[in-house]
Amino acid sequence: MSIVTRFAPSPTGPLHLGHAYSALIAHDMARKHGGQFLLRFEDTDLERSKPEYIAQILDDLTWIGITWDGDPLFQSAHLDVYNQELDRLISRDLTYPCRCSRKDIAAASAAPQEGVPHHLYPQTCKHRLMSDRQAGDAIRLHMDRACVALDGEMLSYCELGNINKGTYYIDFDTLLRDVGDIVIGRKDIQTAAYFMASAIDDIRQGITHVVRGVDLFEFTQVQVLLLHLLGHKAPLYHHHGLIRDESGKRLAKRDDARAISKYRSEGASVNDIKEMVGVL
Ligand code: GLU
Repeated sequence: MSIVTRFAPSPTGPLHLGHAYSALIAHDMARKHGGQFLLRFEDTDLERSKPEYIAQILDDLTWIGITWDGDPLFQSAHLDVYNQELDRLISRDLTYPCRCSRKDIAAASAAPQEGVPHHLYPQTCKHRLMSDRQAGDAIRLHMDRACVALDGEMLSYCELGNINKGTYYIDFDTLLRDVGDIVIGRKDIQTAAYFMASAIDDIRQGITHVVRGVDLFEFTQVQVLLLHLLGHKAPLYHHHGLIRDESGKRLAKRDDARAISKYRSEGASVNDIKEMVGVL
């Protein structure tokens, strides 16, 4: 099998050490096996995504020595594709519209309904029909119906990283108890939630190995569920550890002090960066 990996940054901030680590693992994995390495900008957050971050990320990746195959994919140019996939779940009656604000959810969660764990969406809008959808409503996955739709099919994926290496099984109880009725259609712009768009693109781009930080481990389970519901075979996943600071604290996504551009301006070499993330 020829392998295809990808790096999929959200251009809402500069490329930092953690990103560089992820990109290097995915890039080196593809190059080592004569495969392909693709670049995808997850820029569906139209307010926070900035062209200057895209330019800087491209420049930083090139400086580190990363090369990608073909043109980068920009998700903002494909919102209709994610909507079509969302429509497939809507037409199977697996969704409902939700008008709850964060504040509504916090208030309802303070007085949880019997049988709904308090960390899950309190199901205020669960009785609503898609035909009742109003402008500005989000779309939630009706998790109970999603589990029924899978008709007992065992959800599994193959993990190559350090966490539960091997076949990883997701059971319906976990989905109902820990994940619940997640938002899969956004209310701000009419398109799928970011993790759904990401999973769809992994299929569209023919990604064989998804390399990402272990902070996205929970997302992976939801993505595997969505891919199964949409009739796609999940790729292989490789979750890697996170880059931490000297005190062992995980680097925050917007920790600009760790931006590659900052290290560059201070005279760091590519090898310095590789040494810092431990890939030299
Ligand atoms: N866009 C995500 C980020 O920048 C990564 C998504 C993924 O690896 O699937 O954190």
